[in-house]
Amino acid sequence: MSPSEERTALEILYSISRELAASLDLHTVISRVLELSTEQLGTVRASLIVLNSNGQPVDAAIIYDGKPVSTTTEQMNDIIQFGLAGWVVRNKQPVLLSNTHQDKRWLVRPDEMGQKDFAKSALCLPLMAQEQLVGVLTIVHPQVDFFTNEQFKLQQAIADLSGIAIRNAQLYEDIRTARVRYHDLFEDSIDPILVTDTEGRIIEANRQAVSETEYTRQELVSLKISAIHEIPAGKIEEVINKKNSDETVKYESRLHCKVSGSLPVEVYASCITIQDKDYIQWIIHDITERKSLDTLRADLSAMIYHDLRSPLSNVISSLEIMTSILTPEESAHLQQLIDIANRSASRMQRLVNSLLDINRLEAGQPVMQKTAVDVEQLINEAIDIILPTVQNKELDIEKLIPAMIPSLLVDEDMIRRVIINLLENGAKFAPQRSKITIGAKLNGNLITLWVEDRGPGIPDEAREQIFEKFVRLRGDGFTRGLGLGLAFCRLAVQAHGGKIWVENLKDGGSRFLFTLPAALKG
Ligand code: ADP
Repeated sequence: MSPSEERTALEILYSISRELAASLDLHTVISRVLELSTEQLGTVRASLIVLNSNGQPVDAAIIYDGKPVSTTTEQMNDIIQFGLAGWVVRNKQPVLLSNTHQDKRWLVRPDEMGQKDFAKSALCLPLMAQEQLVGVLTIVHPQVDFFTNEQFKLQQAIADLSGIAIRNAQLYEDIRTARVRYHDLFEDSIDPILVTDTEGRIIEANRQAVSETEYTRQELVSLKISAIHEIPAGKIEEVINKKNSDETVKYESRLHCKVSGSLPVEVYASCITIQDKDYIQWIIHDITERKSLDTLRADLSAMIYHDLRSPLSNVISSLEIMTSILTPEESAHLQQLIDIANRSASRMQRLVNSLLDINRLEAGQPVMQKTAVDVEQLINEAIDIILPTVQNKELDIEKLIPAMIPSLLVDEDMIRRVIINLLENGAKFAPQRSKITIGAKLNGNLITLWVEDRGPGIPDEAREQIFEKFVRLRGDGFTRGLGLGLAFCRLAVQAHGGKIWVENLKDGGSRFLFTLPAALKG
C-alpha cells in the first residue's frame, strides 16, 4: 500500500468508527456498515446478517442493485447455512474469491442460472466480538478479479470495528428490553411495590401502590415508607445486612390508607442496587382474606369444641352408664342397639377430635401428651373398631408384629385414630373376602407401621396429593368421605417427627407406611 493509499484507508476507518459510535440502534448500525462498505468498494450487492449467541440470524441488511431490500427469516437462514456465508459462519475465517465461478462454496442464485456469464468476485467476512461470532458480511462485485488484497485487509479492519459496534448495540438492546420488562412487571404487579432509599424515603411507587394506599404518586414520593405502614424495629437494618444474599425480609404489618383506614398486609422487603447505589424494594401483599379465614377457622374450632364435642361426650358417657345399669334380661334385648349407638357416637367423636387436631397441628401446636404405648395393643384396639366392616366383607386381617418390638412414644388417642383411619380406608377399598395386613417393624429409633389392602391402589400421580386436605379420588361406587382422613394422618405423624407415604403393591392394592418414635430406654 502506498503512503497515500494508507492514509485513505486510515481516514475511512476513522470515519467508519465515528459513524458506528454515533448509534446504538442495531439495525441502524448494520445498515451503516453495509452502506459504508459498499460505498468504499464501489459495489452494488452486499449483505450483513446478525447472529445471536445461539448462532441464529436475528437481523439483516441487504443491498441489491445498489438499493436496500427487505429479507425474511427464511432467507437469512438460507444465507448462513449454505454457500459462502455458511462456510464463513462455520469456519470463522474471512474469504476472498476472485472468481466465484471457480469456487464450489459459491451458490448461484436461481435468477442468475440462465445468465451466460455469472462469474463475479466476492468478499465474505466473519464479524467477531470477544471471540464470538456476531455476524457475517458478504460483498459481491460483478467483475472477476475485482478486489485487491489491500481492499480485503481494509474490509477486515472494518469488519472488526463492526463486530464490536454490533455487540454493543446488542448489549444495549438487551439492557433496554430488560428495563422495559422490569418496568412492566413493576407497573403491572397485582401487589403494591414501592422503592425507597436506605433512609426509607419513597422514590418510586407502582400503579397498585397508588390505588391501594389512595395517595397520588406525587404524595407518595413526599412520604417515608414508615408513614404508610409500621415497620418492626430493626427491620431496615436487617434488610441492608442481607444485601448480598438475595434474601427477603418478611413480616406482617398494617397498611395505612389515606382515606379508608388500615388493612392487614404481609411485607417482603429486599435490598436492591441500582447504579452502585442501595435501595429498598417493598412488596406489600394484602392478607385481609387470609386473616378472615384464620378468624373463621378459629370460630369453627370453637364451634366444634363447644357445640359438638361436649354434647357428644355426654351421649357416650350416658350410653356407658345405661349399659352398666341394665339387668341381664334387658341387656339381651338392648345391647345390640346400644352397641350401634356407641359405635356411631364414637365415630363422630373421632371425626370431631381429628378436625380439632388438624386445626391445632396446622397452627403449629406441638404434641404434648406422649406416653409409651404398646404397639400390639394399639393395633388390636384399632382393629376392634373396624370389626363390623371386617365381618360384613368377610375380610381376613393379618398381623405382622414382632414379639420383642418396643413401645411407641406417642399421643395414644391421636395415633390410634391414625391407624383406624388407614384400616377404615383399607377395609373400604378391599374386595370382599380379601386380606388386609397390618404390620410393625423397628428401624433404629423409629418404628415403621404399615397397612396393606388388595383394593384398587393409588394412581402414581395422586400418591402425594391424597395427603392434602379435601382431596378425594374416585367417588364412583364408594362412599365419599370428606378427604380429611389422610390429611389428619400426615399432620399427626409429622407432629411426632415421622413420615407417611404410600406404595402400590405388585399384584394390586396399596400399602400405607408411616414412622413413629420408639420408646427406647436410655
Ligand atoms: P376420605 O375421607 O375421602 O376417605 P382420605 O383422606 O382418607 O379421605 O383419602 C383420600 C382419598 O384417597 C380417598 O378419596 C380415596 O379415593 C383414596 N384412598 C385412601 N385410601 C385408599 C386405599 N386404601 N385404597 C385406594 N384408595 C384410597
